[in-house]
Amino acid sequence: MINVAVSGAAGRMGQAVVTAVEGADDMALVGRADPQLETGLQDVLPDADVVVDFTTPETALENARACLEAGVHCVTGTTGADYSQLAGVGSANLFFAPNFAIGAVLLMQVSQQIARHMPECEIIELHHDKKLDAPSGTAIRTADLITEAGGNVHEPIHSVRLPGLVAHQEVIFGGLAQTLALRHDSLGRESFMPGVLLAVRKVRDLTESPTVGLEKLLD
Ligand code: NAP
Repeated sequence: MINVAVSGAAGRMGQAVVTAVEGADDMALVGRADPQLETGLQDVLPDADVVVDFTTPETALENARACLEAGVHCVTGTTGADYSQLAGVGSANLFFAPNFAIGAVLLMQVSQQIARHMPECEIIELHHDKKLDAPSGTAIRTADLITEAGGNVHEPIHSVRLPGLVAHQEVIFGGLAQTLALRHDSLGRESFMPGVLLAVRKVRDLTESPTVGLEKLLD
């Protein structure tokens, strides 16, 4: 059994993670940290093998640092923080995915393939109106990967914030008298849960910390 604590457990993503962990045969939910539950991360660390963090850009970095310093592996999906500064901290591993949905990861991979032949592109990301950061972590990661593949992502990345949306992204490539558009839609927060559980199962075996991107955990 993997003992899992959830940080940001009262939030939109945190609640979905709690449900997913409770439904996993190989995991036990050992703590729920959140100001709304009057429980701090320090209260849940002693019982946890892995902490899953979906909080805010302001707190996620310190939460991850606290986990690593306590020797507890950390899986974080909180976007808007720079986790690279936690390299070498503590003895445990940190895993960050800006998007835990398999479809979004496949969109990034296919975008890299297309960019080699149609380099000019624009990114439009669309999210619910409570999202704190813009552009999204997924859009920034997509842009980085396309650039690595030789593409030219036009600035700015377009951010749409509206009620009713969950998490959506389009990449539009333009070439000679043709365009090619890719779109991914997360229609519910359940879309992220298989990826989160996969990361919980694999984080202790990572050889690099932080490791970034769900694609690193896929066969
Ligand atoms: P949310 O509903 O605002 O939830 C965040 C929760 O964290 C709130 O309950 C908040 O409490 C709590 N919190 C704040 N500081 C904390 C601390 N120090 N320790 C523990 N809990 C703390 O936000 P959300 O929609 O769930 O999104 C959370 C993050 O996940 C965002 O960065 C979002 O971009 C990201 N996200 C990532 C993915 C992915 O696949 N990687 C997918 C969706 C969302 P208060 O309200 O009292 O501050």
